[in-house]
Amino acid sequence: MFMVSIEESLCTGCDSCVDGCPAHILSFENEKAFVSGDECECMGCEACTAVCESGAISITEM
Ligand code: SF4
Ligand code: SF4
Repeated sequence: MFMVSIEESLCTGCDSCVDGCPAHILSFENEKAFVSGDECECMGCEACTAVCESGAISITEM
């Protein structure tokens, strides 16, 4: 099980992470990404952290 954390102050609003999430739990609104779906669906694939150049996303295995 994984915990997804997006530090809003670091998010530059590039919208790169949302479409690449295979679990479809990331959304984008008001120029910020956020976790909109069930975090339990996160596979820990790190696709989101790989494309996030600002380091705003962190994935922690619980
Ligand atoms: S680690 Fe993978 S499944 Fe989890 S939020 Fe990031 S892209 Fe989605
Ligand atoms: S990839 Fe990073 S900077 Fe870009 S929208 Fe997602 S969290 Fe924000």
